[in-house]
Amino acid sequence: MPDFLQLGIRKEINHTLQSLGIVTPTSIQERTIPSVLEGKDVIAKAQTGTGKTLAFVLPILEKIDVQKSDVQALILIPTRELAQQISKEIKRMVENVEGIHTLAVYGGQDVAHQLKKLKGATHIVVATPGRLLDHIRRESINLSTVQMLVLDEADQMLHMGFLPEVDDIIHETLSSRQTMLFSATMPNEIRSLAKKYMVEPEFIEVKAKTVTVDEVKQVVIETTDRRKQATLLHLIEEHRPFLAIIFCRTKIRAKKLHDALIASGYESDELHGDLTQSKREKAMKRFREAKTQFLVATDVAARGLDVEGVTHVYNYDIPLDAESYVHRIGRTGRAGGDGVAITLVAPKDMEFLRMIEKGIHQKFDIQVIEGVSIPDREDYNRVSREQLKGASTSEGRRRDGRSSAKPSSGKKPTNRRPKGNSGTGRNRSR
Ligand code: ADP
Ligand code: ADP
Ligand code: MG
Repeated sequence: MPDFLQLGIRKEINHTLQSLGIVTPTSIQERTIPSVLEGKDVIAKAQTGTGKTLAFVLPILEKIDVQKSDVQALILIPTRELAQQISKEIKRMVENVEGIHTLAVYGGQDVAHQLKKLKGATHIVVATPGRLLDHIRRESINLSTVQMLVLDEADQMLHMGFLPEVDDIIHETLSSRQTMLFSATMPNEIRSLAKKYMVEPEFIEVKAKTVTVDEVKQVVIETTDRRKQATLLHLIEEHRPFLAIIFCRTKIRAKKLHDALIASGYESDELHGDLTQSKREKAMKRFREAKTQFLVATDVAARGLDVEGVTHVYNYDIPLDAESYVHRIGRTGRAGGDGVAITLVAPKDMEFLRMIEKGIHQKFDIQVIEGVSIPDREDYNRVSREQLKGASTSEGRRRDGRSSAKPSSGKKPTNRRPKGNSGTGRNRSR
């Protein structure tokens, strides 16, 4: 297996990589770096957590001409948190290299401050589409010298409705530029975008043994909407996560749950689109520094965010498809660490659970914590029969294949943790 030097990365950067414990290129890096160095257009499709960032950052760094002060590379990403994360990653990589300047441009940040920074030499711009277009319109940024363009998390940009902006932005760059597209999935819209803007792109696909599905222990707990909160509190009391991300379906639900965690004495922060940028930044910073134990988030945090030490992911609300499931649980078990993903399902969520099972080709063993996640089994069966009355139940509610945490003694195990649902050993004592 080649190392980064053999792939064409200079020794100062290789040194920095080594000091961070990054020694062997991942397969997406091994295949992408040489092509990007050769100047080829590249479409790279690989699962979350496979090291896509360095796959484009490293060869771009090799190609920046520091003698010039104009913008040579543009990296477009869908969220502000990713803008920060990637620009930080670049800054970390150039610690031992003179003269490469990077700027993150994203919404919610002081425009005057960005304008000032844009006046200095900037070689690499990492930007969210909305704010970048804003600068283009104000003529405070000139992208006519951009030779390298990266569309990272392209499918997510599509989902967030950014493609028209991306289109406009691409037209601002050099037509002879090199274009690189990174995405976990390749919906048709992304394929056509690639067709439109790329020249004989090399398609690189890494069917990695998925980090997520293989290295993250997955647990599904059946509960009811009314018992969800108590179930979560019970679980976190049992697991004592070092750092955990809790996903909710809506901003309002995230806020409510965050408030409930605070009321129960936990250190928690919320992360969603209703917060001011400075609040979001504070929340991310505190979480990265492990000052808060829980980050209660909507799906925006499911993409790309790489926080060391996330031992648990809780799907307080079930994700609506397999893809978001994989992205959410991929926030744990990063870079070889262990992780546990716990999904709470209410009766009405079963359909989504089946879809996720199909999508990831895996069957879940659904557990209950009697007296906590559901009332006593008999009551519960009666209630759920009533709830289901009227609904068409061609498949019915299958009870087989589920394990109950009920011990053989038959005593009510209010405090018992579901079988096999252990923490990760990195328990936090608090
Ligand atoms: P992706 O964009 O594919 O989801 P990232 O680029 O965010 O993945 O990388 C995931 C994690 O793996 C990061 O913490 C990164 O520092 C780490 N990483 C990347 N490349 C390597 C490597 N070659 N060896 C070890 N760790 C790596
Ligand atoms: P602006 O905030 O100036 O409109 P951006 O390019 O930063 O420009 O983002 C465009 C839109 O994308 C934002 O208004 C916001 O609604 C959404 N967005 C971007 N990042 C996030 C995020 N992390 N969480 C929620 N929404 C986001
Ligand atoms: Mg990424």
